[in-house]
Amino acid sequence: METFKALVVRKSEAGQTVAVEQWTDADLMDGDVTVRVSHSTVNYKDGLALTGKAPVVRRWPMVPGIDAAGIVETSSNPAFKPGDAVILNGWGTGETHLGAYAGKTRVKGDWLVPMPAGLDAAQSMAIGTAGYTAMLAVLALERQGLKPADGPVVVTGAAGGVGSVAIALLAAAGWHVIASTGRSGEADYLQALGAAEIIDRAELSGPAKPLARERWIAGIDSVGSHTLANLLAMTRYGGTIAACGLAQGMDLPSSVAPFILRGVTLAGIDSVMCPMPRRIEAWGRLARDLDKAKLARLTSTISFGQLPETAAAILAGTVRGRVVVTID
Ligand code: NDP
Repeated sequence: METFKALVVRKSEAGQTVAVEQWTDADLMDGDVTVRVSHSTVNYKDGLALTGKAPVVRRWPMVPGIDAAGIVETSSNPAFKPGDAVILNGWGTGETHLGAYAGKTRVKGDWLVPMPAGLDAAQSMAIGTAGYTAMLAVLALERQGLKPADGPVVVTGAAGGVGSVAIALLAAAGWHVIASTGRSGEADYLQALGAAEIIDRAELSGPAKPLARERWIAGIDSVGSHTLANLLAMTRYGGTIAACGLAQGMDLPSSVAPFILRGVTLAGIDSVMCPMPRRIEAWGRLARDLDKAKLARLTSTISFGQLPETAAAILAGTVRGRVVVTID
């Protein structure tokens, strides 16, 4: 019987272990489409799953990896046939359903996005959940009717995955992008992506006043906590902040002042259970709007064997931009 490699986390009394194992199709979970995985990526959540630093994994043993790109091997779902190129993001893969860090994954066809024209498997994983979430956030700002002429946009966690892709997308659309980072050494990188201004994240990480000087009309925040509270307090009248992350913390020590005195909108962004029509829209826009040269600039590629060390690095905040993992 054919075997394939799988990076498996198991729980024992001694704690969590991670090891490469040889699996067969019989080890996979139920689903109507089996995908041969060629590429994956490392998101912040994958770092949590692989290191066990937060209870992301809720089924044991688990193959982590919330994002996969590959080719359909077998399908009983009418929407997919063998040979189709597909993308998988979220829906609990790598958390409750065996994920992407394996030669194959078996999932519901309803979870799969057909690979959009203009992207290949490696590019789609360079984007990954982080980049697709950045696009969902851009779409949320657009739904509020905001446009570059209305004022600047702030992006926090700028040198991270969501932040890097958000800067590239917003700059391409003509926005004046203010990038907030703790890594001043990444200024050249952020400017190359399209940041017009760079601010030190320390300006935003302390306790927020209910209202402060109005600095931007829009924002994409992957940091949460005091940083999100400061973003809201500094948003111009009628602006919107799209909140997607919690790198600083899950709390939100804010007040209602920005909402009731400046008409500010806080737009929540979820990538995991996002309905399929919006996923298709986001991936179509990524294929159309994201500059491939900038995507290459924000991407590094690692081998399967480097997954554990990269998981630790992303939690330490030392990974720049996005990471592609070659599986096959
Ligand atoms: P990364 O680790 O690539 O980026 C996070 C960035 O946040 C870091 O690079 C750093 O940017 C900044 N940061 C880290 N720690 C702190 C801190 N203590 N205070 C302030 N800033 C900090 O992660 P991703 O971009 O992949 O994900 C970003 C966040 O978004 C995560 O919290 C993740 O869980 C969440 N997320 C949510 C999704 C959803 O569906 N809602 C989907 C995808 C991600 P810098 O060095 O530039 O300051």
